[in-house]
Amino acid sequence: SRWSEKQSKVLGDIAEEFTLSTSQLEHLTTAFIDQMQAGLAGDQKSTDLAMISTFVSGRPDGHERGSYLALDLGGTNLRVCLITLKGNNDFETNSKAFKVSDHLQEAHISELMDFIAISIKEFITSEHISAKIVEHPSDSDTLELGFTFSFPVTQTAIDAGMLLRWTKGFNCPGAVGNDIVQLLQEALNRNKINVHVAALVNDTVGTLLAHSYKHPNTFIGAIFGTGTNGAYVEDTRGIKSMKNPTTDEMIINIEWGNYDKDKRFLPVTLFDNKLDRESINPGVHVFEKMISGMYLGEITRNILLHLIDHRLLFDGTSSAKLNQHWSFETKYMSQIENDTTATLIPIAQILEQDLGIYLNTQVDREIVKFVCQLVGKRAARLSAMATAAVIRRGLSVEGRLAGHGYPLKLSEGDRAFGSVHESTDSTIDHSLQPIHVGIDGSVFEHYPHFEERMVEGLTELLGSRAKDIVALGIARDGSGVGAALAALIATKNV
Ligand code: ADP
Repeated sequence: SRWSEKQSKVLGDIAEEFTLSTSQLEHLTTAFIDQMQAGLAGDQKSTDLAMISTFVSGRPDGHERGSYLALDLGGTNLRVCLITLKGNNDFETNSKAFKVSDHLQEAHISELMDFIAISIKEFITSEHISAKIVEHPSDSDTLELGFTFSFPVTQTAIDAGMLLRWTKGFNCPGAVGNDIVQLLQEALNRNKINVHVAALVNDTVGTLLAHSYKHPNTFIGAIFGTGTNGAYVEDTRGIKSMKNPTTDEMIINIEWGNYDKDKRFLPVTLFDNKLDRESINPGVHVFEKMISGMYLGEITRNILLHLIDHRLLFDGTSSAKLNQHWSFETKYMSQIENDTTATLIPIAQILEQDLGIYLNTQVDREIVKFVCQLVGKRAARLSAMATAAVIRRGLSVEGRLAGHGYPLKLSEGDRAFGSVHESTDSTIDHSLQPIHVGIDGSVFEHYPHFEERMVEGLTELLGSRAKDIVALGIARDGSGVGAALAALIATKNV
């Protein structure tokens, strides 16, 4: 290449820091599994993984029918949906978004809940929607609703959850410490709306359920978007806090974004630390900050500035735009990695139009692309690590994925599928069913090679058959369909 000796040296060192070897991934996986175990055992002192019980104790298989409401409150928009489950793994969504005003975000909680109740009423009384409900009734007399509420909640039942704290600009008095489901139900009753709040869910759980409707036995739901998190199906015997489990399985919300917040295992770099210090939540969600869409561009920006300051890029000149915090968006990385032309002119266009860097040589553009590849590849490999850890955890419980009937068994000490042998249980269908992972989020969906790099990491951690056994798939709209399915599970006990 035409890189100078100094460029090659500095970039080589950065590449080494960002490249995760198989043995590093292996080490991280083992630690992740230990942390999952500690969380399940209720030993919160020795883990960064909250491992929250969701009380969702069943999964749909796609034959379910009926109309269910779903509600999604996670930011400035409230989305009300009617989900029509048609059976045969097919569903239809109708939805309407209502803006949550600045005033409402800080109003008393009863005012916010009244607004939600009235929005629901407005939605269902629109002719189109009420006709659909009549056409596809559920078994229940009232209309059942699932609520995706993306704020920190501790759940005590599928339809009970106490708000721990507000985030994302919300600050409504009267809510913290109270049951969100009850607050909404009271508002519905006050406004004489015949809707029953059946379930409260996290978006990862919704993703898992939504994917399960299309791919029964989905084992993991994961988000790789603004942030990252995962949920999976655990054997209730593995959850120490469950005294007398009445079901075999329960979905656990891992909250994996917070993995290794004390940086004991993750090879964080100078560039990660800089980002962390300058973030709104320093010292937490360290894993998320190496993986998700909110942060990848900023890590890349930090590296580019370092190279500029060493006069190894853009002739040592930055721009006002590039000097700005968060100005380098993760979607630019996607566009840059997508540029496979010889002269990299599309990259020049991004540098000029979006970042105000007018003087860039082809070598500069090669370096920018190289840096994006390092950051993007590390993110995908860490995503594979978390996914592989959860699958290994599943296989280690009685040698099979909880409730999955998975006909494979790991022998003692084996880590990889390469040495998996079949169970002798003759009641099990031995045709190999893939382990489905439902994934939502722009990073997984749009970042070039993200899936391919994840599969590569999975293969290193699970063995050569990983790509036949683990099926990664896009699960869109977990907050809608998933919440509706949670309401169905809560009321039908599937
Ligand atoms: P959310 O997670 O908030 O529900 P998304 O899944 O769309 O929403 O994720 C948004 C994040 O994805 C943002 O941080 C954004 O930077 C990033 N993003 C958006 N478009 C792309 C893209 N084409 N490639 C990579 N990342 C993207």
